[in-house]
Amino acid sequence: AAKRAGQAYRRWEPALDEQSTGHAKLGAEMRIGLDAGQFRVVYQPIVAFPEGRIAAVEALVRWEHPHRGTVSPAHFVPVAEQNGLIVELGAWILRTACRQMARWRAELGVSAPDKVSVNVSARQLARPGFATSVADILAETGLAPNHLAVEVTETAVFEGGQAVTTLHELRKLGVQIALDDFGTGHSALGLLQTVPVDILKVDKSFVDNVTEAGRHSAIAEALIQISTELGMTAVAEGVETAEQADALSRLGYTLLQGYYFSRPVAEPDFGRSRTAIAA
Ligand code: C2E
Ligand code: CA
Ligand code: CA
Ligand code: CA
Repeated sequence: AAKRAGQAYRRWEPALDEQSTGHAKLGAEMRIGLDAGQFRVVYQPIVAFPEGRIAAVEALVRWEHPHRGTVSPAHFVPVAEQNGLIVELGAWILRTACRQMARWRAELGVSAPDKVSVNVSARQLARPGFATSVADILAETGLAPNHLAVEVTETAVFEGGQAVTTLHELRKLGVQIALDDFGTGHSALGLLQTVPVDILKVDKSFVDNVTEAGRHSAIAEALIQISTELGMTAVAEGVETAEQADALSRLGYTLLQGYYFSRPVAEPDFGRSRTAIAA
């Protein structure tokens, strides 16, 4: 095993070097891009099913790089977390999403979504001043705290500490907490007892096979039961087909998100819905 580890190390060392210079370059370009206004925020509907109303939206960041084209957040968010730029970028995303949501609330009345859900990284949560900066952004944009949720991952909170303190502070403000990609981390269900959680986002991997019988749908079924039992709201992520939506609905899910309903877009069509179109 030691020999294998040694070989792996030699094999990976140059690749890691390359990766870190690549990351440094991307990080520097991100700094420039932030100042040059290359980032924008898109919104993916979270649909109340089967009625079809857009109950909430998830804010997702996009980077239009002048030469690289659209860079995926799956690629640049981890780099921004590493070099710390996520703190400034994250504050910008939060402000942009809250401002947009305040505008929708003001303009659309009853057809406005109830909530905007914003992804927050471990690095942001670890800062003692984070909840205060959220309070400032809410005041500045005029958005009521009950219209905001923050999405955090299990890995960002399972060690406790400041991250969990931050969640309690956010909740005290009236902001809701969503646990993202639920079931894919290494933490156990016990996490739900130690971390304040309002919304469970059931990961796409449990939605993919939900139309198949037996063990394939068993986890999606167990997770809706647990969330109901604990007084949490469940959202199923990555719904791509009508069959999946129907199967999830039969299991008791009422909030669904995925390409079947809509991709993330700059301005969702709040007046129309997937089910209304299909009907
Ligand atoms: P996530 O938070 O789990 O977001 C869901 C991702 O799944 C999004 O990818 C979304 O476009 C995609 N998705 C939604 N429905 C479907 C579907 O039906 N099928 C498939 N195949 N994919 C679907 P995106 O926007 O590329 O974001 C990837 C990840 O990057 C996010 O995963 C999140 O971890 C991170 N991210 C995105 N925006 C932000 C942000 O503003 N802040 C932070 N900290 N992280 C972000
Ligand atoms: Ca998310
Ligand atoms: Ca997710
Ligand atoms: Ca994810």
